[in-house]
Amino acid sequence: MEALWRRICKEMEHELPDHAYDDWIKPLKPVSLDDKKLVLSSPIKFHANWVKDHYLLVLKDLAKKFSGNDIEIEFTLSDRKDSYFQEKDHKKKLVPLFVSKNRDFNTNIHESFTFENFVVGESNRLAHAVCTAVAQSPGTAYNPLFIYGTVGLGKTHLLHAIGNAVLKNKKRARIYYTPSENFGNEMIEAIQGKTMDKFRDKYRKIDVLLIDDVQFLGGKEMMQEEFFHTFNALYDASKQIVISSDRPPTEIPNLENRLVNRFEMGFLGDIQIPNLETRIAILREKRKTFSVKISDEIISFIAERIKSNVRKLEGALKRVVAYLSLEGHSDLTTDVAEQLLGNLLTDIEEKNINIELIQKKVAEHYDIRVADMQSKKKPKQIAFPRQVAMYLSRLLTKASLPEIGNSFGGRDHTTVMYAVSQIQKQIDKDRSFSRNMDLIIKKIKE
Ligand code: ADP
Ligand code: MG
Repeated sequence: MEALWRRICKEMEHELPDHAYDDWIKPLKPVSLDDKKLVLSSPIKFHANWVKDHYLLVLKDLAKKFSGNDIEIEFTLSDRKDSYFQEKDHKKKLVPLFVSKNRDFNTNIHESFTFENFVVGESNRLAHAVCTAVAQSPGTAYNPLFIYGTVGLGKTHLLHAIGNAVLKNKKRARIYYTPSENFGNEMIEAIQGKTMDKFRDKYRKIDVLLIDDVQFLGGKEMMQEEFFHTFNALYDASKQIVISSDRPPTEIPNLENRLVNRFEMGFLGDIQIPNLETRIAILREKRKTFSVKISDEIISFIAERIKSNVRKLEGALKRVVAYLSLEGHSDLTTDVAEQLLGNLLTDIEEKNINIELIQKKVAEHYDIRVADMQSKKKPKQIAFPRQVAMYLSRLLTKASLPEIGNSFGGRDHTTVMYAVSQIQKQIDKDRSFSRNMDLIIKKIKE
């Protein structure tokens, strides 16, 4: 049973984006197996229902593939509710995603982000219009298309929506979505594995390149160099390039001029913070995806209180759904919602939590020197708090793994990855440690 589940997990981990795997598959545990049925336990009903709705077929397919039998999958509730909620509350992304496949090409496009479920308002009307135009005739009018706006306003959603719309018209279109960070990592792997030819070949065969969060290339000279050539090759062949960034090209620190110029050659469209009307419309759209009943009153309450970030609106809605999915919670008043949503209602983003602050608070908590966060010293009483601080940097800031590594005395991103997984394990198995972490997080947010 364990072995079968491990194989299924491995495959899912490979197929799904990290956060989708972490949020939906990882919390499942195998409980029993015979030749007809596999029972999985899930922390809460809401989670089990979601997995059923989104992943049941895939799970069944994989169970059959690896066991040779037609196996039914059933869910039961486990008793790990509390730690599940703690984990969830700290997570920033909770989107379950499927990857749309092209028969001979891995597109990385997520089926669940489409134009159909993107709500258009004043704040995003222009960006939406250009994106639909691009999807209709890629590589012609708006090339490159550069979409910018602060975090959580729908840039990634629009990129995937373009991909999905193009694939609808043309099943074999070679569309590729990638965060720029991933482009960089692939490049480094190609250099190390001496497979640069393959890397270039792959990128230069693309019809529509959707490259997300390009601000990450700032300061990374080698990646910029390679991206410049990829860009030119595609552009010269009239292939569509769509770029997203959290700011306009001229404001990306340490971005080479020639790239700034290239980005400005096409169309620049921004996305702004949605007004109340749009926020309500977005929440109503998202409400459709849940089976529990959420009142208009609660929708308005959330929309009035969370203003600057759609991802956060969604997070609040999901917390409400989780609450309403529990036995005996069929109703929710605004008073209870106020408590339930607590920290989501205070705008954490505005509080500017950065790695430096995290290092300081963690050092204080463990009574070590802040300088030890960057030092090469390895004794446990220093190394452990350092891992905690890395974990919290990943959790509470938008810094990438390499950026976090840099802030901890130039450590490699794999060191950060290791720290994050170690601390996560500890949180999962040790309740008092998990409470301790909550305490530190509270101090950081104060
Ligand atoms: P960004 O890439 O700008 O940080 P995302 O595209 O990841 O933001 O959006 C965050 C979440 O908000 C996603 O789940 C997305 O579906 C949702 N979202 C943002 N804007 C809209 C919109 N106009 N309509 C529907 N959902 C939206
Ligand atoms: Mg994004």
